[in-house]
Amino acid sequence: MQKKIWQWTGFNAMAPSDIGREEPRSGQVEIRILSIGICGTDLHIMSGHAGFGTPPLALGHELAGVVERVGEGVTGWQPGDRVCIDPLIGCGVCHECRSGNKHRCAEAGEIGLQFPGGWQEYLNVPAANLYRLPDNFSLEEATQAETLHCCLGGIDKLDIRLGQHAAVIGDGPTGLYYVQLLKAAGASMVTLIGMRDNRLALGRKLGADAAVNLRSEAPDAEDPLPAAETQHIVIDAAGNEASLKLGIELLRRGGRLLLFGLPGQPVQADIQAAVLKELTLLGSTNAPQVWPRVIEMIASGSVKVSPMITHHYSFDELDRAIEFARNEPDEAIKIIVNHE
Ligand SMILES: [Zn+2]
Ligand SMILES: [Zn+2]
Repeated sequence: MQKKIWQWTGFNAMAPSDIGREEPRSGQVEIRILSIGICGTDLHIMSGHAGFGTPPLALGHELAGVVERVGEGVTGWQPGDRVCIDPLIGCGVCHECRSGNKHRCAEAGEIGLQFPGGWQEYLNVPAANLYRLPDNFSLEEATQAETLHCCLGGIDKLDIRLGQHAAVIGDGPTGLYYVQLLKAAGASMVTLIGMRDNRLALGRKLGADAAVNLRSEAPDAEDPLPAAETQHIVIDAAGNEASLKLGIELLRRGGRLLLFGLPGQPVQADIQAAVLKELTLLGSTNAPQVWPRVIEMIASGSVKVSPMITHHYSFDELDRAIEFARNEPDEAIKIIVNHE
C-alpha cells in the first residue's frame, strides 16, 4: 500500500512523492489525515530560520483526521473516530515526562517539526497523542486546537485578574487567539498591536477594545498606542527586538511579560528597565495539560476559530498553499489544506 506525501527538501523547497504505508506499531494508531493548518513555523523551518528540522521531512503539526488502523495493545480507539493530534512526543520515562511536562523533556520532539509530520495521507502516531472530537467540531477547526493550546498554556501562566489592562503585540493567529483568551479571562481593556489592517480589524471583531497599526502613517485616525507604563500584562506574540522593547515600555511596574514569539536568534533587551520596574518575564511554549480544555473551549464556542480560517487548498496543491502563505501575509491569516 502506498501513500502520497509532501516533503520539505531544502531552502523553501518541497516535493511530492509516493511512499509505502507502514503498519501502526504497538501503541500506535494510523490516522488518515484530513485537515492540515499551515503555520508560520512551517515557513520558518523551510527557510532554515527555525533552527530545527532536517530535510527531507514531511512538515505539518496542526492536524486532524480519522482513525484508520489501530496497532497492537491500543484500546479505546476505533476506525472512523474523529481526532486531533497533540504533536509533542517525549521520552515517556524522564522526570518531566512522568510529571506531565513532556514539553520540557530533553528528548522531546514534535510531529512535523523534528519527526515526520502530517503532510501525507496517513500518519502513525502514539495513541496517547490523540484527542477525540465532538460532533459539532469541524476537522478544519480541529487543526487549530494545536495553536490554541499553546496560547492557553501562556494564559494559564499569567494569573490574570478581572479589570486588568493587557496588550498583545503581534497580529498573527496566535495574537488573535490571545485577544479572545484575555477577554474571556476578564481583562477589561485589551489592545492588539500589529502591522496589518485586515488582522487588526478581525482582532476588533473578536473582542479587542483597541487595535493599533504600528505601520500606520496617520496614527490619529486609528487607536493610539497605549501610553508607557499602563499595561498590567503584555503578550509578545511577535518575538523580535522591537516587540520586546515595546512590551517592556508598555508594562506598568510589577507587570508581567509573556514571551511567546520566537526571535530565532539572540536579541537585545533593556534588562535594567525590567529590573527597576520589577517585571516578571515568562517564557511559554507547549502545554500538554490544557488540551482537554481547548477542545471544550472550541466546542462551546467560547473561542472562535473559524473567522481565522481565510483560505482553503486541496492536498494536491499544498505547494501552492505554502507559496501563498509565504508571499501574501497581508491576505492570508490561517490557511487550511484538506484531503478530498
Ligand atoms: Zn504551529
Ligand atoms: Zn522525557
